[in-house]
Amino acid sequence: MKVHHLNCATFRPPLVAGGLVAHCLLIESDRGLVLVDTGFGMNEVTDPKATIDGLSRKLLRPALDITETAISQVEKRGYTADDVRHVLLTHLDLDHAGGLRDFPKATVHVLDTELEAATNPRNAKERARYPKKQREGVTFETHKAEGEDWFGFEAVKSIDGLPEDVLMVPLIGHTRGHTGIAVRSDDGWLLHAGDAYFYRGEVETPPSDIFALKLFGKQTAMINQQRVSNVERLRELKAQGEVEVFSAHDPVELARLA
Ligand SMILES: [Zn+2]
Repeated sequence: MKVHHLNCATFRPPLVAGGLVAHCLLIESDRGLVLVDTGFGMNEVTDPKATIDGLSRKLLRPALDITETAISQVEKRGYTADDVRHVLLTHLDLDHAGGLRDFPKATVHVLDTELEAATNPRNAKERARYPKKQREGVTFETHKAEGEDWFGFEAVKSIDGLPEDVLMVPLIGHTRGHTGIAVRSDDGWLLHAGDAYFYRGEVETPPSDIFALKLFGKQTAMINQQRVSNVERLRELKAQGEVEVFSAHDPVELARLA
């Protein structure tokens, strides 16, 4: 499968040199186009005050560039929104799922616990992170976080309508239903680890971190202990060298793959 690495939003938070991206995948498969995460969509870019909360705008300083939206990048390649048949989401945070309403014909795949967290938030933290509007008119298909072994990780395989080599690899922690998405590209296995970590050094051996991003990872996690243990597992997977592991927001990882 041909896989394109896209940046679907740029952020320039203070204290993070080089900024952050929203690394999404556009997959050209025999079942049509598949997106992994959407980044911000037209709604966020054209009306940020109505869609993105004030604290996030201040902390993350999003560029809000219309040419970065997934829909603009799909159209630039000569396709239309309707050609996108499936969207797989690492989770439902706005910087990953804001663009859902730009693809009304797509089936959106998430873990069942993620949709549950969005529709029945347990606390103020969950209530704040999942604006209801972003899910209006969206067709969801939920999946249980269980399945077969994939490089030592449990993976949800054989998702209806999707090619066999597109899997969900649950990485719970950042949110209740956070998952990685694995894709076997023409160049080998990729694992989009979403927000399982924020800085590439966290999964390198030996690990390193940036203080602001380490704090951000901890603060935004719903189940931090599980998040921390997943970072360790991802570091081992990366060290094995068979899977290209990357996160959603690291600009250097994106530049290496794009
Ligand atoms: Zn994110």
